[in-house]
Amino acid sequence: LNMQNINPSAVVDNAVQLLKHRLKSYCVDVIIVRKQAMPEIKGDFEQLKEVLVNLMVNACEAMSKSGTITIREYLVSDEPLSSIAVIEVSDTGPGIDSSMKDRIFDPFFTTKDEGTGLGLSIAVRIIEEHKGTLELFSEPGNGASFIIKIPVNNEKH
Ligand code: ADP
Ligand code: MG
Repeated sequence: LNMQNINPSAVVDNAVQLLKHRLKSYCVDVIIVRKQAMPEIKGDFEQLKEVLVNLMVNACEAMSKSGTITIREYLVSDEPLSSIAVIEVSDTGPGIDSSMKDRIFDPFFTTKDEGTGLGLSIAVRIIEEHKGTLELFSEPGNGASFIIKIPVNNEKH
């Protein structure tokens, strides 16, 4: 891992830029919600970008023909000196059935004819290497949200 001081918002912007044409061809809009400036974190820019790309490609594939991806960035603090950078990727697709929730992160689990089933397992590995977590929230009919949480001071853990 190539750990540098990086701005999480720049990772998001870069991933969106990389997917610009695909998003257009899928008729998917992207909304980025930034309520506050994000602090720098220690992270591997390219690896975190791959996570964002994987999540956005999955969202595109889940939304047949059109929809909206909303990316929210914010900070939460569980203790005074340890805030957590949160990046949520939400879509307006069909969501993920509760019977599948435990399996989607497994390597090779896919519901797609040509899927590898590797995207989410790679994403989990990368986020865990940053001392973070990747969680799914989904209510059927209300789309899926993937929540990335990375401690801002992850190198000190
Ligand atoms: P792949 O995309 O190759 O199938 P992933 O690991 O990226 O592999 O995803 C695993 C499975 O999780 C997908 O096949 C799909 O069933 C489900 N999934 C992932 N993201 C979403 C999403 N945003 N909406 C609905 N289902 C999803
Ligand atoms: Mg995928």
